Amino acid sequence: MTSIDLAPLPTMPDCRALRQDVRDFLAHALADRALPARARSWSAADPAFSRALGGKGWIGMTWPSAYGGGDASALERYVLVEELLAAGAPVAAHWFGDRQSGAMLLRYASEAVKAALLPRMAAGDLYFCIGMSEPGAGSDLAAIRTRATPVDGGWRVNGAKIWTSGAHLAHLMIALVRTGDGTDTRHDGLSQLIVDLKAPGVTVRPIVDQMGDSHFCEVFLDDVFVPADMLLGTPGDGWRQVNAELALERSGPERYLSSYPLIEAVIAALDDTADEALVAQVGHWAAQLWTLRQMSLSVAGKLAAGDDPMLEASLVKEVGARFEQEVPRALQAVWDGTGLADADGALHEALHFLLGASACFSLRGGTREVLRGIIARGLGLR
Ligand SMILES: Cc1cc2nc3c(=O)[nH]c(=O)nc-3n(C[C@H](O)[C@H](O)[C@H](O)COP(=O)(O)OP(=O)(O)OC[C@H]3O[C@@H](n4cnc5c(N)ncnc54)[C@H](O)[C@@H]3O)c2cc1C
Repeated sequence: MTSIDLAPLPTMPDCRALRQDVRDFLAHALADRALPARARSWSAADPAFSRALGGKGWIGMTWPSAYGGGDASALERYVLVEELLAAGAPVAAHWFGDRQSGAMLLRYASEAVKAALLPRMAAGDLYFCIGMSEPGAGSDLAAIRTRATPVDGGWRVNGAKIWTSGAHLAHLMIALVRTGDGTDTRHDGLSQLIVDLKAPGVTVRPIVDQMGDSHFCEVFLDDVFVPADMLLGTPGDGWRQVNAELALERSGPERYLSSYPLIEAVIAALDDTADEALVAQVGHWAAQLWTLRQMSLSVAGKLAAGDDPMLEASLVKEVGARFEQEVPRALQAVWDGTGLADADGALHEALHFLLGASACFSLRGGTREVLRGIIARGLGLR
């Protein structure tokens, strides 16, 4: 049986000054942000907040300074992201660009495209979304049907994407499309294109989720022209590229901190008379958080070293999503007996939101069953 290689942990640089800087910035920037809004975590967007963060050099901070980045290490970015998520900061506008699209551009885009896009992304002015899923092709991503046909100077794209987070705010989408001649196998003949969401033929329609929020969309592509230099990497190599991209989105702190603002609010409300079961629950959360952080950091170290830890990243996402979902459920189970101070009802409102919203934590970024399949295969069990 294959083992899961989560050790050794990377050496953390001394990030205390950075951590304090971020905390000071957030204490001011989020002073008026109430708990129910913070509970929306990384699905909430605020372009003004993103621009302020960009002004601090905290978007694309690992990118080379030649492209507007900060030449920082992946672990420094990890500290920044921990603080943003712990505070429930509205990061969604720049989130996908910072987490993965920027890295994809650095790996695969032409010099001219990198120079044109990355500095604007780092400034918090230009947002990306991820166009992988399609109606009928979610977990089975190789079933995508959106097709790009070569034309003079580029590609003509037809098809539809779905569940595209932030497409209503984004300027550009990295879309996985078919560019083969139709005789390819499922995994061949796929490519990644940067699609301008303001181009003629693009329609973006927000989807309202069960909590009444609209953070993801349908994107229809009807004869959309994409210039040749907006192809990322090598035509036909999209399957390999997209799988490496998925490892970037499955193992970060966002995979276990989505319910964290609720934990912090519970801790703030505890006093000497606190219910014993609740105190024990908080201890249980703290132990799980610590373990998840060690696992996630280990994957961050592997990613920074240029490895492709798909198995380990899937494990972090699966265990982390289970934790994020358990937090509101566990609080609900003890809520009536706790007598927690909640004069303005904010704690109750945040709990109500997370009980509903957390259903999607084990869907987004790859469903629970699919991740368990990857883990089982990685362990040689199937
Ligand atoms: C909040 C949210 C944000 C998202 N953002 C984006 C985004 O920005 N960009 C993007 O491209 N996509 C995004 N997605 C899509 C998400 O990654 C897909 O929903 C996911 O891949 C599932 O696809 P599907 O909805 O078509 O479900 P299906 O693939 O149809 O799955 C339905 C059910 O069948 C199960 N299933 C499917 N295949 C198997 C199998 N082989 N073995 C066992 N069980 C299986 C699944 O686990 C699931 O329970 C987002 C989804 C959510 C919920």
